[in-house]
Amino acid sequence: MTFLGMPLAHAPRGVGHLRGDEPFPRAARTALANPQLRRNVQHATTTIRGKSGRVIAELPDWQDLRAAGSALKAYTMANLPRLLEQLEAKVTEAGGVVHWAADAAEANRIVTGLVRATGEQRVLKIKSMATQEIGLNEALADAGITPVETDLAELIVQLGDDKPSHILVPAIHRNRSEIREIFLRAMPGVDPALTDDPPVLAAAARRYLRETFLTTKVAVSGANFGIAETGTLTVVESEGNGRMCLTLPDTLITVMGIEKVVPTWQDLEVFLQLLPRASTGERMNPYTSMWQGVTPGDGPQSFHLVLLDNGRSAVLADEVGRSALHCIRCSACLNVCPVYERTGGHAYGSVYPGPIGAVLSPQLTGVEDNASLPYASSLCGACFDACPVKIDIPSILVHLRNQVPHPAAEKAVMAAAAYTMDRPRLYARAQRAAKFTKLVGKRGRGLPPPLNGWSAARDLPTPPPESFRDWWRSR
Ligand code: SF4
Repeated sequence: MTFLGMPLAHAPRGVGHLRGDEPFPRAARTALANPQLRRNVQHATTTIRGKSGRVIAELPDWQDLRAAGSALKAYTMANLPRLLEQLEAKVTEAGGVVHWAADAAEANRIVTGLVRATGEQRVLKIKSMATQEIGLNEALADAGITPVETDLAELIVQLGDDKPSHILVPAIHRNRSEIREIFLRAMPGVDPALTDDPPVLAAAARRYLRETFLTTKVAVSGANFGIAETGTLTVVESEGNGRMCLTLPDTLITVMGIEKVVPTWQDLEVFLQLLPRASTGERMNPYTSMWQGVTPGDGPQSFHLVLLDNGRSAVLADEVGRSALHCIRCSACLNVCPVYERTGGHAYGSVYPGPIGAVLSPQLTGVEDNASLPYASSLCGACFDACPVKIDIPSILVHLRNQVPHPAAEKAVMAAAAYTMDRPRLYARAQRAAKFTKLVGKRGRGLPPPLNGWSAARDLPTPPPESFRDWWRSR
């Protein structure tokens, strides 16, 4: 496969909100110092995990569904150019207009231009990871256009001038008293007597959003799936606000990552079973909206689909790493990750936090630009077990760690270890010598320079009193 005639490996890297201001270890330390954040994240992830586990246990063929989802995604990646061209042809046939964006800047230019052409100065936004990735809200604001997030959690994040910290529950780091305070400070027309009772908070958001839905003529959405066979776009959501955005405005602009294409209608059956159970712990999504181009007299009369690359072609070039593109953004891997549970999402610096962020963001930007993220994992494997499309995240993490630039001391130690392990006698001698590491490896004491970086965050394992070889010989 090629990108504009170039080998995929030379395709442009992703830009936008994919890297943070500081490396993960430093950002994680700041997050760990916030006990409220840790309590909020732990409570939310534990609740979703439990709910999801219960509904998954109801399906005797869950493992078969996972295998089917994984196979469908692998097929899609292997046939991506053909499927995308088929999708383009079908959307065009149905009255839509398809645009191709190589990166975030181009996608923002296209969307901003389309909104400007309508003469409108405000757009509705449906919760979408792709538009967060490209920083669309900031680009619209720079062009004098006001984006209004309509997903409740995204609205909380937007009004709080904050950043999302979870793929599915962007305001997971906020509790209800913090949300009340944000609404009182930033929501136009809010009742000053607002309490922090969840139904009262939801009613306040509903009133504000209903007014906005009825007076805004352009909406921007993402897409969970785009069916190549028919040109049908799909958005799944829980609140119904997405459906308002998809049906009420005159103009609809959808930004979709190129990996979200699925070959046929029938394939959707697999993903619509996997996604809700793995993400919100529901048997089916409360709102699954599908549309195909333009229907005269019904819904938006102008539809644009922006197909976004932004580094995805370069990810596709990596035989191990490309399975990160199979992700259906369910967030199950976040909810089971012991690292995410303690740091929350902001520490990852990218719009994609947690285990999937640790493998996707460095590949989209180029691993040298996000070099700390492949280490944001204990490699416990919980993410692999939880993933509904069986992405082997731990193997990709190890693969990416091998691509990260390593300090000279570490490279020398690893070369020496490989040389020693290749030679049984030398290895036996090294094992005997390792007993002396007890002197330097006690808990609370690190290795001497230049190896102290390794032991700064871990204890040197204490060697056993008897090696396996000695034990074998003695019996
Ligand atoms: S990697 Fe798997 S578990 Fe994680 S968000 Fe993507 S699909 Fe869900």
